[in-house]
Order: sequence, then structure tokens, then C-alpha cells
Amino acid sequence: MPGGSLGVSGANFIIATINQLIPKFDHVVAVRDWHPPGHVSFASTHGKRTGETIKIGSVEQILWPDHCLQDTRGAQLADGLQTEKIEAVFNKGTDPLVDSYSAFFDSNHHRSTGLDDFLREHKLKEIYFVGVATDYCILYSVLDALKLGYHVTVILDACRAINRRLGDENRSIDAMKDKGAKIMTAEEFLKD
Ligand SMILES: [Zn+2]
Repeated sequence: MPGGSLGVSGANFIIATINQLIPKFDHVVAVRDWHPPGHVSFASTHGKRTGETIKIGSVEQILWPDHCLQDTRGAQLADGLQTEKIEAVFNKGTDPLVDSYSAFFDSNHHRSTGLDDFLREHKLKEIYFVGVATDYCILYSVLDALKLGYHVTVILDACRAINRRLGDENRSIDAMKDKGAKIMTAEEFLKD
């Protein structure tokens, strides 16, 4: 949220939209960044500046400000979000040594968050994504969901992007569409 250590511009404006969407779904789950102190994605861990990148194995890791620390306010679900219908909350980025943009797996694709198991147990095949950030966590979650065989829709105006580089949002939308994700607005969804 804006004002947080890794605030995404305009993210406060998506809460009301998400609250309008929630009652339309049979199942609602949340995924949150849940980092231990000294996490590999924090610039401070490496004595480097935010926005610099380092190589971890073959993975290029962007370094972020300390954010979403376990059991702190920064890791809580956003103020004002309707949480009554949220059946399960999945944590990601819990391994100090591996980052996780995707809601399904860490960046090494070793550790699962449990989201895929939950969806399979409930025989759910269709996923609608909302939240932050379009060009990181939404993008990688959507690509994993498509690889896992889910039907995926992104409700774009219920998401916000970081746009670290100019055009990141549009590039991420193209990449998601290219792999088979549907993109729509909340208004389009709600009128059906
Ligand atoms: Zn993170």
C-alpha cells in the first residue's frame, strides 16, 4: 500500500473494487508476502541499494526495501479489505534464501505455497487474479497457474503495477495474454 516500505502507487484504489468482486465468487483466498528478517530479496541484507540486482545461482534477484516482515503490520492484509469470505491465506517468500513472486512456488520452483493443493482439493479450475503488483506477483502467479493448467483471468483495474521500468505493466499484460490469460475490467466482470 502507498506509504508502506514497498508501496505500489494507486494500490489503495483497488480495495473498493476487490470488495465489490468478492461476493461474486464461490471461493476466495489470499496470498501474502511473508518474509523473515534478513530475506534474500532485501537490499539491506546485502548492504546494497534498493533497485540493484544480484545473481543468485542462475536467478537475477532485484533488491527491494525491507517489506512484508512476518508478524508485522506491513505483512497484514490491507486495511478496508473484506476478509470475511477469505477461506485461506497462503504465505510466500518464507524461505530466507529464496524469493517468491508467484503465489504457487518459490523462484526455484522447489517449494509450493499450498495454493495448488487447495485448488485441486476443491476441484477449482478457474482463477481470477486481483492485487499487486501486476508486473511481478500477478505476472508470475498467472504464468504458473497457466502452466498448471488453470483457466486464468486477470481483472486488470483491480490490480496495480510497480512499473520499475517504463512499460513494465504493458509488457507483463502482453506476456500473460500471450500464454493464454484473459484480461478484463471489473465492470465487464460485474455486468455478466
Ligand atoms: Zn517480497
